[in-house]
Amino acid sequence: AEFDQFIKSLREEKRLDRIGYLVMVRVKPSKANETKIISLAGKYFYACPEGYLTHVNYTRLDKMQKAKIKVKIINKKRLDDLKEAWYMVWINDDTQDKILREKFEPLFTHGHTRVIRIQPEDEEFLTANLFRYSILEEALLPLKVLDEKVIAPRVELDPKIQELILKINKTDMTSTVQTLENFRSRQVRETGNARATNWLAGEFAKIGSLTVATPTFNYNSGPLSNVVATQKGTKDPNTVIVVCGHFDSTTSYGSKDAPGADDNGTGAAGVLHVASVAGRLPLPFTVMYCCMNAEEVGLVGSKAIAKKMAATEGLKIKAVLNMDMIADRDDNQVAVIGNSKSNWLIDVFKDVAKLYTGIESKPLYDSDIWYSDHSSFWNIGASAILTIEGYPEMSAHYHKPTDLVANLDPALMERIARSNLATLLTLDSEKNK
Ligand SMILES: [Zn+2]
Repeated sequence: AEFDQFIKSLREEKRLDRIGYLVMVRVKPSKANETKIISLAGKYFYACPEGYLTHVNYTRLDKMQKAKIKVKIINKKRLDDLKEAWYMVWINDDTQDKILREKFEPLFTHGHTRVIRIQPEDEEFLTANLFRYSILEEALLPLKVLDEKVIAPRVELDPKIQELILKINKTDMTSTVQTLENFRSRQVRETGNARATNWLAGEFAKIGSLTVATPTFNYNSGPLSNVVATQKGTKDPNTVIVVCGHFDSTTSYGSKDAPGADDNGTGAAGVLHVASVAGRLPLPFTVMYCCMNAEEVGLVGSKAIAKKMAATEGLKIKAVLNMDMIADRDDNQVAVIGNSKSNWLIDVFKDVAKLYTGIESKPLYDSDIWYSDHSSFWNIGASAILTIEGYPEMSAHYHKPTDLVANLDPALMERIARSNLATLLTLDSEKNK
């Protein structure tokens, strides 16, 4: 009744935009529909056989209904009500599902994903019970210029790339991860987080050819910074490829000690070492090397970057390559994860990785695996993939004080980083204009 009253008053004031609807847009996920949903809804958070999960304000909902698109309203709330928010939660197993359901009734359930409506204070319950979660950001914007006509490059051996990738080696990468581990800890609330930010910025600056920035964003515990090193494209600077990996760490199990060597010292090292090779070359498209902060507390840093990119006029994102946990054990396999719009990119990575490093890719065309920074770019309509060790089997040291360099397999890290470098150079090429 209170809500109806609110709507009535808004209608009188012609301010219906202040109501938010959590909706399932009932169209079959496909590349074409993905583009359509993003232009209509501005973003989407999740795709499944039933359709696209997103939230929209009244104006957009009205537009979709007038366009005769089937929309199921799951929940609604006042957008000015900051006491409650929709959270997307990822459950590992049935036990976690039970723990969640004992406290909250999910509004949406599919695969490992649940959506609940909670108060920010309830985040403590989520972290204490080892849930991974992301707040459904209301203000994400779609890319104004979607890179709709994706022409996947032909993958063929380039002797120059073959030579260049050898410059990435496990010894140097391991030493980078060791330095990151030594900041114990890089959690958002610990002092090591800011020290790691500054150190990474300094390392990117040493490459010499990159413009390095540490743009800040707000998080509960105060302002935090991402590290962004930009290499301007020589031919088409408005087309951007993002290479990213988060550098913050976390731990559960009641300890404050989060060395975060594998998660995600390895991915951050991957970004830095890819930059140290590719960053010195003249490349036609712009590359943004991003070490993201606050990934572990809801993908906050990458959302800030994605939002800013989406709001930049004329910018096109060609591809996003995200590395998160790349050194657990070398069983000659890397998991490559993408949504339907990123299928082409998975295929390119798979062929490139095999060709240059011999590693086999385990492709997962699945938007249920949103829990890392790549999904912040899915949300704005970009093609983005995650490369990760042995998914779904997690490292035994995941989020534990034993996530140390001593427990890594540097050979896998080297091969995945080299594969990402080779993929970047295949995409950022004159042949791929
Ligand atoms: Zn991670």
